Amino acid sequence: MDLKSNHSSPVLTDPAPLSKSRLGLPSNITPCSPAALLYSSSGLYLTIPEILNGKHDDVLVNGWLDSMIASSPPRKKLNKDIISESQVDDNDAAYQTWIINYPSSLNSFHLITNDAKCKMIALFLDYDGTLSPIVDNPDLAFMSSAMRAAVKEAANYFPTAIISGRSCDKVHEFVKLSELYYAGSHGMDIMSPIRVSESFGDHPDCIKTTDRKGKEVHLFQPAREFLPMINEVYKSLIEITNNIVGVKVENNKFCVSVHYRNVDKKMWDQVGCCVFGLLKGFPRLRVTHGRKVLEVRPVIDWNKGKAVQFLLESLQLSQRDDVLPIYIGDDRTDEDAFKVLRESSRGFGILVSNVPKETNASYSLRDPSEVQEFLKSLVRWKKFTTSQTEDIATIKI
Ligand SMILES: [Mg+2]
Repeated sequence: MDLKSNHSSPVLTDPAPLSKSRLGLPSNITPCSPAALLYSSSGLYLTIPEILNGKHDDVLVNGWLDSMIASSPPRKKLNKDIISESQVDDNDAAYQTWIINYPSSLNSFHLITNDAKCKMIALFLDYDGTLSPIVDNPDLAFMSSAMRAAVKEAANYFPTAIISGRSCDKVHEFVKLSELYYAGSHGMDIMSPIRVSESFGDHPDCIKTTDRKGKEVHLFQPAREFLPMINEVYKSLIEITNNIVGVKVENNKFCVSVHYRNVDKKMWDQVGCCVFGLLKGFPRLRVTHGRKVLEVRPVIDWNKGKAVQFLLESLQLSQRDDVLPIYIGDDRTDEDAFKVLRESSRGFGILVSNVPKETNASYSLRDPSEVQEFLKSLVRWKKFTTSQTEDIATIKI
């Protein structure tokens, strides 16, 4: 990606049709029937799904309901009072088989540092489920002060970016570290201090502004034109999901997240019905699946993988052979970044999961506590190798 020569916008200007592959629904059929209409504040009629007598078109519902279930596997809890011993053994056996292909980054640390010899590591970190535990209320997904200290220390030695589905402002509030790069809304809202991101300014979707503390920053927002539409959809989703107990709709600026973590599983189809039904009226928006969350995003050629490429380019690291990008994340949306690294044979992804999952990552970590340990290990290794290099330099003098 050449930011200087390619000034074309990643926004797809033609309305993209809803496709089966994107939404899990054929494009020519209604996700729910029948539908009601709601007159929106912008004067548009929005299609609001309605469920009559609790019946859906099973074929239509199954597509996205299956995807919702597949995206939300239960976290493994080894409670032997609840789970039988044979189940525990089966789970363990499946995990032990899986981890052969995706070894623990802690156990394989020597392989990673071997790869990183004489290279600069660039760290890309997802937030929810990676730096913070997954909690019932997404507003309370705080990272521990020990994790914050580990990330801060890592950022002293390696260029470090947080890439999250949340808005840039929100994830910044959680992390509270000014020395990092932040890419919110799945990379559609990138913020960087001006002093280290001069090449941002060459891009037409980049603006110069100040952050909350009055510091000058560069903002890269390739989906800026979608803001009014996203706000409209956010308001409508709040309204139409109002009767579903436990649902939480979150405005992440360039992405609306509909969390169903606290919704009874029997009602998941209603959540999907509301979201996919509404989106039928917005062909320039699409839905992606995360862990117990549906995320409504603009149809643009942009994702966490593109954000990684953009940041590497902006930091002038993309053409260097002595850079090793490492991306750590736990969610389906992180797969775009894993894939970019795998396909470019530069760096690798680390999947945070304690259950077997299909992934483009190369290594794994079980949970945020292991992520913290891995970050600390990287810093210890870096300090050690730096001190060794300095010793050698001193002897030569
Ligand atoms: Mg995550």
